Amino acid sequence: MFVEYITLDHTRPCLAEPGKIIVVGKPAQAIESVLPLLNAILPNVISYNPRVCSLVLRRKPGFITLTPDTVYITQVKDADEGIELLGALRDLLNQTWDARETIQPRNAERRTPRPLDVWELLPRTNCRVCGEATCMAFAVALLQANRALEECAPLLQPDVTESRETLRGLLGNTATTRSVWRESGR
Ligand code: SF4
Repeated sequence: MFVEYITLDHTRPCLAEPGKIIVVGKPAQAIESVLPLLNAILPNVISYNPRVCSLVLRRKPGFITLTPDTVYITQVKDADEGIELLGALRDLLNQTWDARETIQPRNAERRTPRPLDVWELLPRTNCRVCGEATCMAFAVALLQANRALEECAPLLQPDVTESRETLRGLLGNTATTRSVWRESGR
């Protein structure tokens, strides 16, 4: 068996949908070796970043983000549903790993998020702290690499770590490239 279990580590309120939660799971072992296989076979991959080993899947509703040692699932009804989803995810990882001889891994970076995907993970308060009139405008600017995640100050708060990490997976390096560019004064 590739991974024996994924434990529910903790939950957080979900920014995208009040009343729902983000589930944070910890796999029994590192899962990075299965990510290129999932990237090759799943139709709902919206982002794969091999440099940081992050794969983001769209689910309806919400997202599943897989990193080597942590998984995040957004817009979950409650902890019971979270445990069910983590069990289904473990099964998917194991089935995919068992079929690895028949799958051509896809190692290339992939990034096809839509503005709505990004917007769903932002605080969505339209507070304008980032300088944009709305969170949707900021989402579009992020996708165009004209803005960096760090420019949304509310997103730097510790209680939104999971949304921030999911956004990092979704945006790949785009969200940090600009801040590095700025810090270097270029
Ligand atoms: S700072 Fe963040 S929450 Fe405020 S408008 Fe910009 S993107 Fe939205």
